[in-house]
Amino acid sequence: MKNDPSTKIFDLLQFGEFGDVNPSVCDSATFTFMQAKTMMDTFHGESEGCFLYSRHWNPTNKYLADALAAMEGTESAWVTASGMAAITCSILQICSSGDHIVCSLTTYGGTFAFLFNYVKKFNIDVTFVDITNLDLVKQAIRPETKMIYTETMTNPLLEISDIPALAAIANENNIKLVVDNTFTPMIVAPHKAGAHVVVYSMTKFINGKNDCVAGAICASAEFINSLSDVNAGTAMLLGPALDPLRSSSILKNLHTLHIRMKQHSMNALYLAEKFKENGVKIIYPGLPENKGHKVLKKMMEPGFGFGGLIAIDMETAEKAARLMEMMEKAGVGYLAVSLGYFKTLFSNSGKSTSSEVPEDIQREMGLSEGLVRFSVGLDNDIENSWKKIKTCLDQM
Ligand SMILES: *Cc1c(COP(=O)(O)O)cnc(C)c1O
Repeated sequence: MKNDPSTKIFDLLQFGEFGDVNPSVCDSATFTFMQAKTMMDTFHGESEGCFLYSRHWNPTNKYLADALAAMEGTESAWVTASGMAAITCSILQICSSGDHIVCSLTTYGGTFAFLFNYVKKFNIDVTFVDITNLDLVKQAIRPETKMIYTETMTNPLLEISDIPALAAIANENNIKLVVDNTFTPMIVAPHKAGAHVVVYSMTKFINGKNDCVAGAICASAEFINSLSDVNAGTAMLLGPALDPLRSSSILKNLHTLHIRMKQHSMNALYLAEKFKENGVKIIYPGLPENKGHKVLKKMMEPGFGFGGLIAIDMETAEKAARLMEMMEKAGVGYLAVSLGYFKTLFSNSGKSTSSEVPEDIQREMGLSEGLVRFSVGLDNDIENSWKKIKTCLDQM
């Protein structure tokens, strides 16, 4: 039997309260009890199946969380009001004052800012390393290290983390490997590859409609229970609860994710090859000469391609700006941040989603000021989209 995320989610049948195929939205903040003792037991986490208050658990959120846990192959999952909430709650649940984190130097700008600036106030120390260099990762670990943090495909340089190798390092040191899999749902199953905690910005591919911000944490039941503990759970106490109305719409979108990922990947590979043929400097892990190609191939689930993100280097920020403006006028897509949308989105990473990263560190990580990241859309006629891009390039 197949064991990939798309099969696991399709094997899951969720029956709504009235036999509804799309479980009804539980539009309630609080829940009633007939016996006072049951309420007390629920507070202590001892009453299976009872709901208390929607910052803790809501039935609609639980349907979505169960579907995500099935997809990732984890015992449990938790949904949050944003990807950053999933990331920050996971980190703060694992790390306390005096602890240390080893983190990939190339990460999402918000995550970088949180670890570079914000956790200082909790006396948590962070070492940023080239995550593709396993010796550097090993050397960075100290007695007080609690976590290795990385992204399967890092933002914005699309480097690939070797999750099985990083998991082995984490296990040897009895610490947690936390992986942000936002760029590669379906394509990589980080938990299957050894990650202890998998986080998502569902704002991107999982929801795929750019109509909301949301996040998820997939992990062991023990970890999810600790996050939601009424006395000491970070998710419970910081309170980034997802609205059940949104949960319901994300759950419906989740069920087309496997089809969308195939199309995003097919279109991205097509454009990557065209850029290459035309002598444009291109980063795409689907190209055999890409540094992360072999590592990604080793851990990916077959049939979903290499993902929907590509990056080209226009060398200067001015050239990047000119190309993006021309492409928007030509109808290639939108000059906008974010990704995983049905239309193509493009932005200059150094001046947008990675602008939190100081310029000297941008240079250290090899981020060119002319880098244009594309989230390639679901275009039915990608050849035609390429023709539009080519016309813009020729006019430059
Ligand atoms: C967008 C993004 C986030 C943050 O998610 P939000 O939903 O915007 O809070 C985190 N990680 C990655 C890789 C992202 O692309």
